[in-house]
Amino acid sequence: MTKYKINHRRNLSIYFISALLIWLITLLYGQQSDGVKSQVHTINGKKYIALTEFAKNQSVRTEFYEHNNKMVLRFPSKKTVVSAYCSFVRIEEKNFQLPYPVLYDGSEFFIAAAAFSNLLNIENISDAVMDPTNSIVISTAPKYNLHNIRVNKKSNGSQISIRKSATFKNEELAVSFSRGGWLNLTIPGGKPDSIGVIESHLSDPVVRVRTMNTGVSCQLSFLLRYQIEDYELKQTKDEIQINLRTDISDNAKKIREMRNRWMMNTIVIDAGHGGKDGGCIGVTKLLEKTVTLDIAKRLGKLIEKDMGVKVVYTRDEDVFIPLWKRTKIANEANGKVFISIHANSTPRITNARGYETYLLRPGRTEDAIEVATRENAVISLEENVPDFSGYSDENLILATMAQSSFMKESEYLASVIQEQLTKLVPSKDRGVKQAGFHVLVGASMPNVLVEVGFLSNRQECANLGKASYRRKITQAIFNALVIFKDKYESPIIDSN
Ligand SMILES: [Zn+2]
Repeated sequence: MTKYKINHRRNLSIYFISALLIWLITLLYGQQSDGVKSQVHTINGKKYIALTEFAKNQSVRTEFYEHNNKMVLRFPSKKTVVSAYCSFVRIEEKNFQLPYPVLYDGSEFFIAAAAFSNLLNIENISDAVMDPTNSIVISTAPKYNLHNIRVNKKSNGSQISIRKSATFKNEELAVSFSRGGWLNLTIPGGKPDSIGVIESHLSDPVVRVRTMNTGVSCQLSFLLRYQIEDYELKQTKDEIQINLRTDISDNAKKIREMRNRWMMNTIVIDAGHGGKDGGCIGVTKLLEKTVTLDIAKRLGKLIEKDMGVKVVYTRDEDVFIPLWKRTKIANEANGKVFISIHANSTPRITNARGYETYLLRPGRTEDAIEVATRENAVISLEENVPDFSGYSDENLILATMAQSSFMKESEYLASVIQEQLTKLVPSKDRGVKQAGFHVLVGASMPNVLVEVGFLSNRQECANLGKASYRRKITQAIFNALVIFKDKYESPIIDSN
């Protein structure tokens, strides 16, 4: 009886321990849900993993060197070298001894199962466990979630796609630019397969890629052949995508094409300000946005009616359009001329009056900077805008390189506008000026910004409030466009 009881108790505890073991295994397997199973081979009573099979299961690339019977496993950033009949494994710069040598049967390498699983864990390559029956090794995919890179040409630029196997928070992804033309993408939680990334097939504009991994975060850096104008970061299920908008080289190509066959068939009219951005406030409380929209619409109607040229408005109602979007609209409409209409204000000098036309060009005068600062102040009203703060001096020069190709045309248009305004509008000719207006940045076509008059001047503000006065301004700009069209729209265009 006693014996039976003891046996019974022992049976119970065995049952209990087994249940606990099963529960533990289930728990372990649960955590290894994305694990792959590799069979354990028993050879002469010893347990081995077949390496080629294991690598295939893990999607790890392998290389075989016949002359010295070595096999290389390309784990993410950890190159592992195994030699036939040798009991050492080399992982990067470190050697590890196995309890028994690697076997090689002419096609497959067999490595000590428990020791190798252990090494994968120690070296933080993969989580690997042998099942309790020692018949399989379960291992997670190599610990990286960023795999390789593709560069695709798009109609308006290029796209860098990074293949991934994890979801990252969009708001945590960050793009920055550093000296020498590098675009850096920071991915918190990103674990790049450095070898896969570096060996990705690259194409223009990406010249080189490098990876930096801090363990917490990683940075992928792309050396770009040329400056880009704008980018957009997106995440799909399998990819992080960086869309690079029309780079300068593409612009240069476009410019050449346009020079060859330049037809003024689309004019983009940009009514300054709008919506929550009223622009300057006149002495009579007349808002700049109202004046600019009225002139823009009058001009557009006149062009369509009397010139037969398509008109694209950046806005045709009282809405807020961020500055960057205005040139985007212009470029996407394939505009051939871009005219931005504004009205001036100098609260300090109340008798200042007249019209002036601006060009965007590096090397600005003091007055022009003041106007540019005011007109650009609207950027603070924009939400989620690309950062323009870097657009100064040399960056501005780069950003305007495409435009300087149209400098001669822009200058000519500006001078003709001033000339025509002087003929028709009874106010002061303040001349052609230069300034860094953001609205003009990126418009790859001849472009000018007209300040039609001073709302801070009592008389001029009253005039700008009159439809007849605005009609005169409109007619003058229209006449200038006709003269411009006649000069430049010809089969042979002087490219000097
Ligand atoms: Zn303005």
